[in-house]
Amino acid sequence: VSSRLPAVGTTIFSVMSALAQQHEAVNLGQGFPDFPCDPKLIDAVHRAMLAGHNQYPPMPGVPALRQAIAAKIQCLYGQAFDADASITVTAGATQALLTCLLAVVQPGDEVIVLEPCYDSYLPGIAMAGGIPVRVPLTPGSFRPDFDRIAAALTPRTRAILINTPHNPSGTVWSEEDMLRLQHLLDGTDVIVISDEVYEHMVFDGAPHCSVTRYPALAARSMIVSSFGKTYHVTGWKVGYVAAPPALTAEFRKIHQFNVFTVNTPMQHGLADYMRDPQPYLQLPVFYQRKRDLFAEGLRSTRLQLLPCTGTYFQCVRYGDLSVPERDLSEGEFCQWLTREVGVAAIPLSAFYADGFEQKIIRFCFAKRDETLALALERLARL
Ligand code: PMP
Ligand code: GLN
Repeated sequence: VSSRLPAVGTTIFSVMSALAQQHEAVNLGQGFPDFPCDPKLIDAVHRAMLAGHNQYPPMPGVPALRQAIAAKIQCLYGQAFDADASITVTAGATQALLTCLLAVVQPGDEVIVLEPCYDSYLPGIAMAGGIPVRVPLTPGSFRPDFDRIAAALTPRTRAILINTPHNPSGTVWSEEDMLRLQHLLDGTDVIVISDEVYEHMVFDGAPHCSVTRYPALAARSMIVSSFGKTYHVTGWKVGYVAAPPALTAEFRKIHQFNVFTVNTPMQHGLADYMRDPQPYLQLPVFYQRKRDLFAEGLRSTRLQLLPCTGTYFQCVRYGDLSVPERDLSEGEFCQWLTREVGVAAIPLSAFYADGFEQKIIRFCFAKRDETLALALERLARL
């Protein structure tokens, strides 16, 4: 049959989770917590169901949840978003990102993506008929290279996709990075699609530099986030897009015929639960402790750690292992590690369209301490 996405196979996350299950490996591949969410959140959803919130909600989302999202953005980043005109609840960040692309990209428009990037971005651009312009993040540090981004801008550039904190590298953009982006786009009509799903996972006291902090950037941006990451419920698939009214209007034209609405009781439950900011305010400390615990254990292995200042991912290099393992491609190495060592990871090459190889793999540390300890015990044999 003819294919809309001929080069696309099954996502690496499904592939590695299936392999981990098959070999009973500790699954540090696909990014999801193995611990439960707060029971209070489940109670809030349960109460919403019992209260009869079980039919279609308004198309843009339950008003109380949109107001709670707007209040959070105002409180954390100091930018006012009108809940009615600027916030739309989505079925997770994946749907949000695709809908943003479908809303703003016309066939033939160029969209700048910074590689390595989350694996839905390039297929999303293809589905919108856009032309991806791939710009590498600086090798080694994974920091944005503004000279290269500037060189990639053309009159046909419609949008740039950015992601901070960054999956898979765990780097975080600084205030200087955001100001450089703002300056670079000044005088253009480029739209920023800002994937901020790890906004509450920034470590070592650093701030999350949301595009919403910078009014000139916010005015041209669509901000994407996801409750799956923040509240340990990746399977719920509820997220949102915050964008200026004109962009929101375009977004909703697509959204209404894409999913139309997102499930009602979860939205009410989340709105209720969001009244307490503590769960997301405590997240940096919660995950920083796990990062440190995992990193400490990894230091006694022959894997070399890369810096991790945000997200729940730790990247490591395996180039110091013995032959033949150190000569395996990242994909082969992850398969070997799952099969023979009993720990699953994700090859970084999966985040590059051309499968660029650097002998780097990504572990997810959003796991119970016992799970991390078991993985470290196995990795110590390397
Ligand atoms: N963007 C990034 C950078 C992600 O890591 C993820 C989750 N893996 C998503 C988007 C998708 O989030 P969701 O599960 O809410 O669709
Ligand atoms: N975002 C998660 C990751 O990067 C997984 C999402 C998915 O399975 N598609 O691991």
